[in-house]
Amino acid sequence: MAVESFIPITDVKMTTEKEVKRKPSISELTTVESPGKPVTASFIAKQLKKIAKKPRKAKEEREVKEEGVTIRAPKKDSILIVTEKPQAALKIASALGKPKKYSEDNVAYYEIERNGEKIIVASAVGHLFGLTYKPGQKGWPIFETEWTPSYEKKSAAFTKRYYELLQKLSRKAKEVIIATEFDNEGEVIGWNVLRFICKRNDAKRMKFSTLTAPELEKSFENPLPNLAWENAYAGEARHIVDWLYGINLSRALMSAIKTSGLFRILSIGRVQGPTLKIIVDKEREIEKFKSEPYWQVFATANKTRFKHPKDIFDKKELDKFKKIKDAIAETTKTEEKITPPVPFDLTTLQTEAYKHHKISPSETLKIAQNLYIEGLISYPRTSSQKIPKEIEPKKILKTLTNHFPEAKEAKRAEPIEGKKSDPAHPSIYPTGEFKKLEERSEKIYLLIVKRFVSAFSSDAITANKRVVLNAGKNKEIKFTASGLKMIEKGWTNVYPAQIEENDIPDLDGKVKIEKIEFEEKETQPPKRYTPASLISTLEKKNLGTKATRSTIIDTLFERGYLDGKSIQATPLGLKLIEALEKYSPIIIDEELTRSLEEQMEKIQEEKNKEDFEKKENEVVEKTKRVITDISKEFKVKEVDIGKELAKGLESLRKEQMEANTLRQCPKCNKGNIRILFNRASHRYFGACSAYPDCKNTYTFPPNSLIKKSEKVCDFCGYPKLLAIRKAKRPWEFCFNPECPEVKRLREEWEKRKAAMGVRAANKEINKETSEETDKEKSAETK
Ligand SMILES: [Zn+2]
Ligand SMILES: [Zn+2]
Repeated sequence: MAVESFIPITDVKMTTEKEVKRKPSISELTTVESPGKPVTASFIAKQLKKIAKKPRKAKEEREVKEEGVTIRAPKKDSILIVTEKPQAALKIASALGKPKKYSEDNVAYYEIERNGEKIIVASAVGHLFGLTYKPGQKGWPIFETEWTPSYEKKSAAFTKRYYELLQKLSRKAKEVIIATEFDNEGEVIGWNVLRFICKRNDAKRMKFSTLTAPELEKSFENPLPNLAWENAYAGEARHIVDWLYGINLSRALMSAIKTSGLFRILSIGRVQGPTLKIIVDKEREIEKFKSEPYWQVFATANKTRFKHPKDIFDKKELDKFKKIKDAIAETTKTEEKITPPVPFDLTTLQTEAYKHHKISPSETLKIAQNLYIEGLISYPRTSSQKIPKEIEPKKILKTLTNHFPEAKEAKRAEPIEGKKSDPAHPSIYPTGEFKKLEERSEKIYLLIVKRFVSAFSSDAITANKRVVLNAGKNKEIKFTASGLKMIEKGWTNVYPAQIEENDIPDLDGKVKIEKIEFEEKETQPPKRYTPASLISTLEKKNLGTKATRSTIIDTLFERGYLDGKSIQATPLGLKLIEALEKYSPIIIDEELTRSLEEQMEKIQEEKNKEDFEKKENEVVEKTKRVITDISKEFKVKEVDIGKELAKGLESLRKEQMEANTLRQCPKCNKGNIRILFNRASHRYFGACSAYPDCKNTYTFPPNSLIKKSEKVCDFCGYPKLLAIRKAKRPWEFCFNPECPEVKRLREEWEKRKAAMGVRAANKEINKETSEETDKEKSAETK
């Protein structure tokens, strides 16, 4: 293996992208795609010319072709129900009768006879259409968009089979009923199928919040007469606005960076910009922060420790406490009622799942989505904290007692509810159906069950005690201690609550102070955001939507913003925000994003279709104006912005180089050992930077992302490495083959292998690797 066939790690992010979540390869901070090698601007110009030479097929052409296929008009004798996902089609079909399953090109659909009608249930597979720009537009800004079939993109080619099946079934349908998820995205999915595949203007709409048979049957018998146009237009508006932002800002940034002679795909979305700024601002706060010493003062009386309420920053002030010998104590007792927490909307579920189980917001949404598809819980993309009577909660509670005895605690006549509501769905609640679940799903499911039950449980009652010591000449120096005792556990028997009991004695009148203590502390820098706290912050600031926030954070993760549990901005992120603040602050203007958000929400407040459409146009036009302004400003300052970004890229490259440099090469003592990636074998390895003079290399474990750890080997002093594998705990190891510890471990293993017999040892290894590939496979098919 020649080292030339390897490329420096900084250039290979694209190939490693999907393997594992890397630590901030900061490069992706702002990229849609992974970076390539920097190339000259003239190279780009050539590439762009090449692309321009291939004109896209005009839409008319496609339609003519499609129409060409319809030669015979088939008999229209069925009712076609269109769902969003295949699993929902099966659920609906089973709820409406005894379905016969058919399949075409590996896509299943179902047929039922019901009251003498032939009903066909078939599904989309999420979005079957995506926005693209109308052909014939050059440069930027560009504003003309159109929906085109997703299958035209290679990554979504599989959607063609669904597209074609729906097309065929709709030709035989006398009526179409849309039964996608009832929210903006679901409505856009249904509307696009309806207008572009079924060639119809309107349809009946099934509305449901759970995939349980009774609710599905009810929603089929009483459908809404029309599409939920308010959701359709609001959803489409968001698609267009975000798309216009995405394409034009990417082009703006790329054109700026091109002026510096580099090429790099950079992008920043409408919500990502302000979100990145929020993170960068936090980073600046932390950087600016200067830690200060301060003292906390404690007094002990009657073996109880009391705390002075104020932190003392001036050391001299401590003197006044030193003389305290006694104090006058006062005890007050109160009883407190603590009402149960409000029912789950998506954000609260996500923050609680993170708090109790450290499950990230996006994983929580994924799990909740699966629980919904299984019929176990109601639709999770909701902002409601209400439990309406229509869901018959008492019935649900009764069914729940079969598996959750705690549900017997639910004696409250009316549930506790929160302020937030959602016109489309109630809060997230269990349907009462039961199924054995795997560990993480069970955790989320139980949290939802407990939260629901606790909304019907009695208040918790605590006895609170507060003892105040008044000391000093004029009794002006106070110390306090609090006690708490549970009188009624109420809902805390059901839902995990952090209420700590603490017993302190009653004290009244004069008491002797046994001890005064000073504890020196340091003020702490502000905390970085966690995925959960960032989600709540975005919600409070009305940025993004309940359905998109965790994806935005996820994208930031994939682009290298997130480090472990806390979100950290990287040098490129910082530079990008700096450049935009200086030259084009409107891109990261939280206020603008929020006002667009509000304008889009207002679409739904209108009453009829014409007004939805009008409002949609208004918000799209506003977006175009904003982008026109941005582009004017940007084009003038392009060179400056490019310079700034180039600086960011430079420090990014340096940082990556440093992060991948391990130590001086022990063979040649000239080069440095660096972590490199072999594109052909998809494997990391170590090699000397003095290649070709020095050919020293090191082998690293396969199927892993290799990173420098913070630690150094105790036995040989080499930096320790981390091998990070999917769904496994990172493995820390020393890469020095001459290390005494590495040698010892190897010998031990050899001995064990000899004892077990070679075959058994090999079997063990094979087992481990095959387990891993199984896991990877299942992750892919999901
Ligand atoms: Zn060397
Ligand atoms: Zn070592």
